Amino acid sequence: MKYDVIVIGGGIAGLTASIYLKRASKNVLLLEESTFGGQIITASSVENYPGFEHISGAELGMIIYNQAKNCGVEIKQEKVLEIDGVDNNFTISTNDNKYECKKVIIATGAKPRRLGLPNEEEYVGKGLSFCATCDGNFFKNRVVAVIGGGNVAIDDAIYLSNIASKVYLIHRRDGFRSEESQLELLKSKENVEFILNANLKEIKGSPMINKIIVDQNGKDIELDVNGVFMCIGRIPNATFDVKVDEQGYIITDDTMETSIKGVYAIGDVRQKEVRQLTTAAADGTIAVSSIIKN
Ligand code: NAP
Repeated sequence: MKYDVIVIGGGIAGLTASIYLKRASKNVLLLEESTFGGQIITASSVENYPGFEHISGAELGMIIYNQAKNCGVEIKQEKVLEIDGVDNNFTISTNDNKYECKKVIIATGAKPRRLGLPNEEEYVGKGLSFCATCDGNFFKNRVVAVIGGGNVAIDDAIYLSNIASKVYLIHRRDGFRSEESQLELLKSKENVEFILNANLKEIKGSPMINKIIVDQNGKDIELDVNGVFMCIGRIPNATFDVKVDEQGYIITDDTMETSIKGVYAIGDVRQKEVRQLTTAAADGTIAVSSIIKN
């Protein structure tokens, strides 16, 4: 049988698209290789998704997953390996099966780059975060460290300087990729201290972070911190044969269509400015609206 649409990825973008497709009476299959809910499931609390003043990421993911399931979306846990074919005639190969469909939506997301410290994963949700907008509020009047020297690190450090009592900006060199104006703004903040030519070496604390060790020019510095925001870039999960930008994000037009007609990309895997739950959901809506019209 041939599906109208196959959605690859069961995060907020993919689930939203699936719900809209099903409500438009499309025959839709959602394929997810691991956990439904996407990147949000590691967030201990979400407070910026309309409708929920306070909810855990895992709970929100589960609610949207159930909504998709209850409205009849066919859902399978399989890893997609290849998209082959042309508009209205695609073959999706997974680790287990081959499926035919008319349109494809890629919603595979992106993952924050890790430093590769031995105990890094253990601290996710216990003081280690990858998103100041999502988790910054948990560090009200506390001390945090931001790692990185790109736009995200500098923007997040500015954001956190208005919440935390102190922000350490730790960067591996003394040059920055970020915009000069933002960097100057950060430098003007009294509660921000730059620690440059420095690499995060160790995270400590049990169960929550309470200390980090930083190697600055070969000398260890110990800092008492409650939170670490790792802002060293993201890695898009874009392994398919569509056009991507220099960072690997999939390039789309305003309807979310990629360089291949009939293949759409939505959510964090797509080249765009703002990567939030609300924009991921919006991408899904826009792609489906375009698919329905065509
Ligand atoms: P980014 O620009 O790639 O910066 C990553 C930062 O992390 C760099 O400072 C890099 O150091 C550092 N880094 C990378 N690997 C590291 C490692 N292993 N150890 C220590 N440090 C490491 O990434 P981003 O800040 O996430 O931004 C992503 C994209 O979104 C960029 O194109 C950015 O311009 C864009 N963006 C734009 C805006 C805006 O225009 N306002 C806002 C947000 C994001 P080095 O510099 O030494 O390589």
